[in-house]
Amino acid sequence: MKRRTKPTERSTREPSPLRLAPRCLAQTRSGKPCQKPAAKGKKRCRLHGGAEGSGAPPGGRNGAYRHGLYTREAIAERKAMRALIRSFREDARAALSELPARVPDPRGS
Ligand SMILES: [Zn+2]
Repeated sequence: MKRRTKPTERSTREPSPLRLAPRCLAQTRSGKPCQKPAAKGKKRCRLHGGAEGSGAPPGGRNGAYRHGLYTREAIAERKAMRALIRSFREDARAALSELPARVPDPRGS
């Protein structure tokens, strides 16, 4: 289907999405900020450092892990669990030491 309006003859006064995109604003050789739209997910345009594949990978692939393994709560929980296991082990050891050394042979003599 043929477009009813050409992009250059817009029917609305609303600016196009590209016009609303955040600008690159890198300093250009003329000294003015670059007015190209910034690359998707980046702060600069493709000519000023925002090219695809440039820069460090985001998140976990760059070591920025957030898993909660070392929060104060998690450390305290592990510590309490270790103390509980230790106390069970000591109780079991004490109970075993109170038992007679040998169980008598049921066949007698
Ligand atoms: Zn730019």
